[in-house]
Amino acid sequence: MSFSLNDLPLRADLVGEEPYGAPQLDVPVVLNVNENPYPPSPLIRQEMAAAVVRAAGGLNRYPDREALGLRTDLAAYLGHGLTADNIWAANGSNEVMSHLLTAFGGPGRSVLTFTPTYSMYPEYARNTFTGYVTEPRNPDFTLTADLVLDAVQRHDPTVVVITTPNNPTGTSVGLEVFEAVLAGSDAIVVADEAYQEFSGRPSALELLAESPRLVVSRTMSKAFALAGGRVGYLAAHPAIVDACRIVRLPYHLSAQTQAVARVALAHADELLAQVRSLAAEARSFEAWAREHGYDVVDSEANFTLIGRFPDRHRVWQDLLDRGILIRETGPDGFLRVSAGTPQEMNLLKHALEDLDPTRE
Ligand code: PMP
Repeated sequence: MSFSLNDLPLRADLVGEEPYGAPQLDVPVVLNVNENPYPPSPLIRQEMAAAVVRAAGGLNRYPDREALGLRTDLAAYLGHGLTADNIWAANGSNEVMSHLLTAFGGPGRSVLTFTPTYSMYPEYARNTFTGYVTEPRNPDFTLTADLVLDAVQRHDPTVVVITTPNNPTGTSVGLEVFEAVLAGSDAIVVADEAYQEFSGRPSALELLAESPRLVVSRTMSKAFALAGGRVGYLAAHPAIVDACRIVRLPYHLSAQTQAVARVALAHADELLAQVRSLAAEARSFEAWAREHGYDVVDSEANFTLIGRFPDRHRVWQDLLDRGILIRETGPDGFLRVSAGTPQEMNLLKHALEDLDPTRE
């Protein structure tokens, strides 16, 4: 008997939807999902393994539902006088954002973002029955206070997400934009700072004391090289944390996840040194690309948007045929490249020189 998804009573708004995901391909050079190319050092690995062994001794019990040890360590890492009460953690900032929209979105409400931006936002909105409204960024992908305030006043969203540095453009947003939107609306304002450690700009953390409606979202997937560990977190007023605690599934963050993340945080200095070299690698690739006649978007993240390719899919495929996986995303004619090791970036440069990306 043939049976498929079409035969199931799937929610009407999900019919025809595809699961999200960039291709996960086993190729030598992977530069497509803004991961950190450096695996944990042997010492950190050993400490992680030992921490997991300790956690395994208690796996018959549920994990700490409040993840208090991890939240205390995250608060210490962020500084700014924050304590565990200001921090919420979940399985990636994807889950943190879902908690926020579950708590503050929902039927009859909307979330506003500024495009082009992270492709998961509409999915969080859909899953939580929250309306998804977007406004275009300026042509150079920047955002000004006027642009954001005007959009907020027209759409009256309950949640505004401002991504800085933005994915896929790498563009940063000044703190004056956050100050203006917090002062000019009563929305929850989320600064998605997934790539903040790669940027030299001040963090929206500096504004937390000024507003209980500001949320700063971070992740351990990039700067802490812990994409596989799945830990994202937010910093905000304790009332926002209380809202997330209402909607989270009980025991959502496993004991081993909490243990591994705490080891990574204990080695923040070592991991953040790599962040500086990755940012430098991205900036030097951008200089190279400009010299070679590409359009390059000013980025403050560990990735770069380059164009314009008359046929970007063909360039993407040609690079893949050479064992290099990048991302077909962003505005028409552009491709996104994550910063890899110096060796990986050299392979990419040689491949681009080789394949004549301007060919129609
Ligand atoms: N926000 C932005 C802007 C991102 O680019 C990403 C990852 N690509 C995330 C959030 C989610 O990261 P994670 O769930 O791994 O923490």
